[in-house]
Amino acid sequence: MNKWTTYQPSGRTDWSRLLRSLGWGLPLAALLGGLYQLILYWFPYGLVWLCSPVVLGFVLGVLAYRVEVHGHCRNKRVALLIALLLSLTGLTASHGAAFQIFVMKVAPGQFLPKPNRKPVPPLEKYLSLRQERGFVLHHKNSSATELAGGFVKFFWGLEALAVLWFGTLLTRTSRSEPYCEDCHDWLAAGEVAWKPGFERQALNRALSHGTLSALLDIQSGLCMSAEKLVFTHLLCNHCSRLHYVSVVRSWREPGPEGKPVFGSEEIGRNLRATPGDIARLKFESYTTEQVSADALRIFTGGSAVESAGSHLTP
Ligand SMILES: [Zn+2]
Repeated sequence: MNKWTTYQPSGRTDWSRLLRSLGWGLPLAALLGGLYQLILYWFPYGLVWLCSPVVLGFVLGVLAYRVEVHGHCRNKRVALLIALLLSLTGLTASHGAAFQIFVMKVAPGQFLPKPNRKPVPPLEKYLSLRQERGFVLHHKNSSATELAGGFVKFFWGLEALAVLWFGTLLTRTSRSEPYCEDCHDWLAAGEVAWKPGFERQALNRALSHGTLSALLDIQSGLCMSAEKLVFTHLLCNHCSRLHYVSVVRSWREPGPEGKPVFGSEEIGRNLRATPGDIARLKFESYTTEQVSADALRIFTGGSAVESAGSHLTP
């Protein structure tokens, strides 16, 4: 059983910051939704149509993530609500733009009132006309495919699904990122350190112990080893008191046709660390600085590092 303390969001929301973020987030979501329809109109090709719902969903998801980060949102429900709001704004704007393009280019005059005809509600008429006319996709050899009826509904469903799926998926990562409640800011990335060439038994022992210090106790072996424990450090740049460490086991093994296969497994995410843990981590494992010095030593046969260090010794 793991005994480590992981980061838990406080659930607070900085409403004034969040509203300011929505001030640029909502118009941008609407703009992206409109732009998406223009791209579909300008490039009526099968591949573009196939990829576009996923791209729209991803872009709106990233936008929701940026708005939440900028708005300092640490509340799961509020984050989800923001993601839904932005996704639906983008989707609504996209359908609005599609309606405008359809009326202007595909069915001009169809929505003008005509004498002696019973008026049909515009939305109902649009939905039936749109399914009747369908989408015309062009091919390289100047032929075209018309996809009408059920396909139109299927495509709209696909768009909605992609947008909502990405919106909620990306927001899940934003709400679990560590935040310093004293300094009112997200934690910044610190150093990356790794312990290569460790013994499996030592790792199993540390895992059964379930503490960060047990993981720090694992002895490093050869730097060039194919299996590593990678420690990524997050810290509060303002107070320097708050530290979190995530640990991933990564490996490289020979795969088919001699090409190396890379794998990774998350050992612990955002584990609370003391300044002492961080000092140990830097001292007992390889950091980016040490490895670049090692690489330099290999490439220069040791002379560069020795001459660089020579001024330190009297
Ligand atoms: Zn702080």
